[in-house]
Amino acid sequence: MIVYSLYFIFRNRASLLDIHVLVNSPASGSIVGDLLDYLNESWTQFHATAEAKRQLVAAGFHHLSENDDWELKPGGRYFFTRNMSCLIAFAIGEKYSVGNGFHVIAAHTDSPCLKLKPKSNYLMVNVQTVAGRVILRASDGSFQQKLVKVKRPLLRVPFILTGFTVNQDGFKPNLETHLNPLLATKHDDASPDSKDKSKSYHHPLLMQILSEELGCEADDIANIELNICDTQPSCLGGANNEFIFSGRLDNLASSFCALRALVDSCGPKDLSDEHAIRMVALFDNEEVGSDSMQGAGAPTMFQAMKRIIDSLANQYIRESIVECAIRQSFLGFTKNTIDQNCTRVSCANQRYATSGTTAFLFKEVGKIHSLPTQDFVVRNDMGCGSTIGPILASGIGIRTVDCGIPQLISMHSVREICGKEDIDIAYNHFKAFYQTFSSVDRKLNVD
Ligand SMILES: [Zn+2]
Repeated sequence: MIVYSLYFIFRNRASLLDIHVLVNSPASGSIVGDLLDYLNESWTQFHATAEAKRQLVAAGFHHLSENDDWELKPGGRYFFTRNMSCLIAFAIGEKYSVGNGFHVIAAHTDSPCLKLKPKSNYLMVNVQTVAGRVILRASDGSFQQKLVKVKRPLLRVPFILTGFTVNQDGFKPNLETHLNPLLATKHDDASPDSKDKSKSYHHPLLMQILSEELGCEADDIANIELNICDTQPSCLGGANNEFIFSGRLDNLASSFCALRALVDSCGPKDLSDEHAIRMVALFDNEEVGSDSMQGAGAPTMFQAMKRIIDSLANQYIRESIVECAIRQSFLGFTKNTIDQNCTRVSCANQRYATSGTTAFLFKEVGKIHSLPTQDFVVRNDMGCGSTIGPILASGIGIRTVDCGIPQLISMHSVREICGKEDIDIAYNHFKAFYQTFSSVDRKLNVD
């Protein structure tokens, strides 16, 4: 039944895909292989950000720090990270003048996952290993952050399905009592390696494994922030390899497409006619409400816009110039959505940020490049999640469209599924947005 449904959905989209196949024939290059590499590298939001950083540096983007003064110039390409889980990258058009707009694609680096809690009360389900970051104590008394991955099956939740009356009540595990993982047959809290056992908030055995991975002493680990990860690599699947089976497609697929579109549309000569600033904003904590320093609820993007204008104006800028720039700006927020449709560009209620004009502008970009789009309308009897789009639209006052790579119904599970071709459609649409939005936007003026 499920297989039939998938088939039906994709058959329905064939007319749209026909156009797309021409655009994305192997000769023109598909980014799906690179996406799989990115997903396999990005086990956590920290790794996703670190990998994004590596790719931007390799493409020649200049690494900024929020702690320093910025000296920017038209034609320049820059990025900064916050908390190693939020990233903003931007490229300034060579014809930029102060007050011009920002063309932004936003996505998020975090995915629903289980996190390691101190000591034995771990919260998780069907998990195998851990990854994240640790704070290490150095011999000179300073501290440094290091990313870590344990690349072997380490934990497992021994879940007993027969304990639930699934047929009558549905699948309702108790999040506190049914999801404890198994690390070992026994653990010894009084490990002889630990100098100060009373301060150990995690299993000594786990700390020992992490220290081996990091090449340090267990006692040098001052703190840990670990996600529970599936060890199965992301891969292609389906009879014709038409699907991507992977964890974290929400929202790393969009993050990667946006990042790659920015890099590929901002080569040495690509910015010569651009009047605007092209930007990617990747936030953390979207899955838990965005209210954090590294989430979209923080004024990171607004502050970055202000600092960019400030630097390019070479003086402390008037507030009205920032407002002017924001009124000319445009944001595409890319959220994965459970849907069979191709690219979501509208929502029936305003918990999403799309309006008639922003949807029109986004679709117009697709039309110029022969890229398919479809409308997405939330059912009237279903709510739709509060997310980055409305947060930034209302917080900053920027015109916004919600758009996303569709996923089938396993979104938010350990292993998600999407259509391979949708990745290239999204990438090409995002690239087209950067390349042509300035000219498309000039055609429609709404006061
Ligand atoms: Zn989500």
